[in-house]
Amino acid sequence: MHIIEIYKSVQGESSFAGLPCIFVRLAGCNLRCTWCDSEYTFTGGKKMSLEEVEDVVAALLPCTLIEFTGGEPMLQEKELVPFMQRLLAHGHTLLLETSGERPLQAVPKQVHKIVDVKCPQSGEGGTFHRPNLETLGPGDEVKFVLAGREDYEFARAFIREHKLNERAGQILLSPAFKKHATPERTTENCMLDPRQLTEWMLADQLPARLSLQIHKYIWPPQQKGV
Ligand code: SF4
Repeated sequence: MHIIEIYKSVQGESSFAGLPCIFVRLAGCNLRCTWCDSEYTFTGGKKMSLEEVEDVVAALLPCTLIEFTGGEPMLQEKELVPFMQRLLAHGHTLLLETSGERPLQAVPKQVHKIVDVKCPQSGEGGTFHRPNLETLGPGDEVKFVLAGREDYEFARAFIREHKLNERAGQILLSPAFKKHATPERTTENCMLDPRQLTEWMLADQLPARLSLQIHKYIWPPQQKGV
């Protein structure tokens, strides 16, 4: 696999937020979201065998969770899926963060998928792979990263049209962070004010969870490896 970094921190997003987590960040992404905070994953990465990755992960254990993220981890599906099966057999709880653009049928059912649906203001709207809806179950989460009202209205329509709350365990609405955020750990760095988003969610009685990227309030927003 091509790996950017492996480290232990707390999970910053999803219903697992706040739990200790080992992050395995894979290199490469085929999308270019306007607000992407992971551009350093687009190229490079260290080529590592599955055994080498497993050794680095083992040195960071014990830990509640292991997450595969990127970039887009499913671009390395051929290596990643057997590796996830191996870790599941050892009793680990696995999370997979994915853009939703790649087919997810091959992901083992026990893996908790956190699947993005890209909204229009990301510049990658329309990239969601629709058959992925059929792969969702109660252990999975669907995430919309929102930069403004247009994104919110898209997410609201998508949630309702596809009855997402009946398909996935969680629906996450997360304000996008400004690409050139200041070092301050403040909501001023959000492209969409979380308070505004909360007011819209409550007014619409949306069956979704407000999701703030808590690592950006614990450490300076630009800090890597946390
Ligand atoms: S899918 Fe993720 S890594 Fe890829 S461009 Fe979008 S935000 Fe960045």
